[in-house]
Amino acid sequence: MTGGELLAVRNLGTGYGDLRVVWDVSFTVTPGRVTTLLGRNGAGKTTTLRALAGLNRVSAGSVHYRSADITRLPAHRRVRQGIAFVQEGKRIFHRRTVEENLLIGGYSVGIGRRRLPVELSRVYELFPALASRGRTVAGTLSGGQQQMVAIGQALMARPALLLLDEPSAGLAPSIVAEVMAAVSALKATGLGIVLVEQAVEAAIAVADDVVVLDVGRVVLHRAASEVDDLDLLREAYFGRPPKAKPHTP
Ligand code: ATP
Repeated sequence: MTGGELLAVRNLGTGYGDLRVVWDVSFTVTPGRVTTLLGRNGAGKTTTLRALAGLNRVSAGSVHYRSADITRLPAHRRVRQGIAFVQEGKRIFHRRTVEENLLIGGYSVGIGRRRLPVELSRVYELFPALASRGRTVAGTLSGGQQQMVAIGQALMARPALLLLDEPSAGLAPSIVAEVMAAVSALKATGLGIVLVEQAVEAAIAVADDVVVLDVGRVVLHRAASEVDDLDLLREAYFGRPPKAKPHTP
């Protein structure tokens, strides 16, 4: 592992019980950078994220976090060490206020009473859209703001690494930009982020590294700045060369 790496995933194999659905996945995340995992439905993105959170058993390869081997570390200990996982479609408590939701997030990861207000202020600083809505019932917020509440709950533990599974799922395209701006704000604080997304262009815009999975294997791994050619992505997604450009005399 080289200096500065927060997370190093090497030749990861994982799945469900004896069923292997991910093979040989490798990538790293450094503080203040986003690695996005893209790919079709069923490509293995969520399964990879679950393995990093300690929810699916790693059957091959290794996972290192802050230079320590966490391949076999149970999920709850990963949370304590600063790895937060926001699952896709994570439910917030719709009838509770924003503040209650965030406090519940803090309680659930064992934050002491005295630390709660400190962490709450930090989350409000990161997401000013929530700061003025602390007493608002969460169910009345926009979809984007509800997603921020879900992420905010995870941030109460002050993680160093955030695993985000499709934060834009089910949101209108105009709101996706709002959620990605929030991801960008988190990145600016030095958090390392693994972002699973279906909103390909929005994810690439916020990412530093892009990993495309197909049928459980990496088919493209590039710096985001090098993925300006959508044909390249199409090829990675569909496993065939892009259509020939029309001949212009
Ligand atoms: P999506 O965007 O649809 O969630 P994904 O890339 O996240 O796609 P995964 O959810 O990781 O894909 O699924 C990878 C493979 O694992 C699929 O073939 C899926 O059917 C299978 N799978 C997912 N969950 C389970 C489970 N609980 N038990 C067995 N197989 C599963």
